[in-house]
Amino acid sequence: MTEHITTVAGVAVDTRHWIGGERVASVETFTDVSPIDGSTLGEISRGTATEAEAAVAAARAAFPAWAATPRAERARILHAIADGVDKRIEDLANVETLDNGALLRSHRCGVMPRVAHNFRFFADWLLKLEHQDFATRGHTNHVSWDPAGPCVLITPWNAPLMLATWKVAPALAAGNTVILKPAEWSPLTASLLADIAAEAGLPAGVLNVVQGYGAEVGNPLVSHPDVRRISFTGSVPTARHIARAAAANLTPLSLELGGKSPLLVFADADLDLAVDLAVEQYDNAGQVCLAATRILVEETVSDEFTRRFVEKASRLRQGDPRDEATDLGPNIHPRQLEKIDGFVRRALGDGARAVIGGKRMDGLYYEPTLLTDVAQDSEIVQEEIFGPVLTLQIFGDEEEAVRLANDTRFGLAATLVTGDHERAERVTARLVAGTAWVNCFFVRDLRAPFGGSRHSGVGREGGTWSFDFYCDVKNTVTAPNGWHNHG
Ligand code: NAD
Repeated sequence: MTEHITTVAGVAVDTRHWIGGERVASVETFTDVSPIDGSTLGEISRGTATEAEAAVAAARAAFPAWAATPRAERARILHAIADGVDKRIEDLANVETLDNGALLRSHRCGVMPRVAHNFRFFADWLLKLEHQDFATRGHTNHVSWDPAGPCVLITPWNAPLMLATWKVAPALAAGNTVILKPAEWSPLTASLLADIAAEAGLPAGVLNVVQGYGAEVGNPLVSHPDVRRISFTGSVPTARHIARAAAANLTPLSLELGGKSPLLVFADADLDLAVDLAVEQYDNAGQVCLAATRILVEETVSDEFTRRFVEKASRLRQGDPRDEATDLGPNIHPRQLEKIDGFVRRALGDGARAVIGGKRMDGLYYEPTLLTDVAQDSEIVQEEIFGPVLTLQIFGDEEEAVRLANDTRFGLAATLVTGDHERAERVTARLVAGTAWVNCFFVRDLRAPFGGSRHSGVGREGGTWSFDFYCDVKNTVTAPNGWHNHG
């Protein structure tokens, strides 16, 4: 490791912040560790209020020129960033896997191509964004999306670059400048993104990356009066801190938070599909906000569903996420593993039964777990675990299914498996969820909105919704010469 460069999977990663087009080091650092084997990946600059201030100042200074840059030019640069991502998919995938422990094959084939697509999609959408005009009693109303200013984007560790670019791309497309603060448990790909953006010709100060802990550098960022938007993906407790900080400046917020989503399996479902979708909930070792962790099965098929589920889940292979054959990698951090195990131990102590799993393994691995005999009001059913732990409950009819599905404080997603289209329409209409999937899971067109209800979030992003959030929407009312306002 040279002083500020660490080599991870053969890729050189700068461990400093990226502020105003320059690398900036903090006096203090924090150690970034791989969840795969506990090896040190780098000593990362540990930001404070000083770096937060510098990053906001840089974003402010760069804003007028970027906001005034013609849309076609902004779109061209975003496409160039996407090209840069495409060229470095291998690097990004390898670094991300070492940093957060998710599967290399999914980073390579799904996640990183999607990162590039995020930039392309919002670049193209920007060019298609149409102003609406309304004519009323002789005057015209012209609606425009004006760039808002510096945006603070704060992201979690479970899908670092994917979730970061899902915010960075529309914020930049809209003509804003950005301060990205990645999670301290997976800081590396954000640094590579800064390199890629600079190579693509993004002007200095338009994208800034600050590293560090939420309380130390995140808090001064979200409290800053010059910040015009905050988009946060993470946990509910952190969202409350951020909302309180944002309240002082009335900074508009977009919050993408946790979930405890249901998977409803009706007796008329294709049971093999239902089992496939249920086992898929262990992806990324259960560290997926959208995961349908509460499996609700109609009584008449519950035994058969459980039998097939156990058969399929027992074939899952846990191991090194760089190995093509691995289905489940490690969890991110010893603290996270403790948390998962605590939930399971308390549930078992309260009378839950482990159909499969229920124990931690060597390293940061946890057995894929299915718990049954759980009460609806119990912690294991009500709280987000963020590990490979599912619960199974049985319902008697549609009414009970909907009641159980909606009976948590969350509302991020819901998945329904049924062969009856009318039932699907009836039930989805009653589910509280930002996304409802019928006979599928985890697929979405970027033009569609994404977000959560209740404690799963505030606001929606995606397609036009992203531009609505990242812009100041303005109505310009023009009257012809000689027109007098008669009220
Ligand atoms: P977290 O809330 O602990 O941290 C998220 C980010 O917030 C990190 O970058 C952290 O440094 C920062 N932060 C912490 N305190 C802060 C403060 N006071 N001010 C500003 N920033 C602060 O969440 P996590 O553990 O990293 O991520 C897991 C959570 O994220 C889960 O609840 C999961 O459901 C949620 N999540 C939601 C979505 C979604 O789209 N709805 C997607 C992925 C993850």
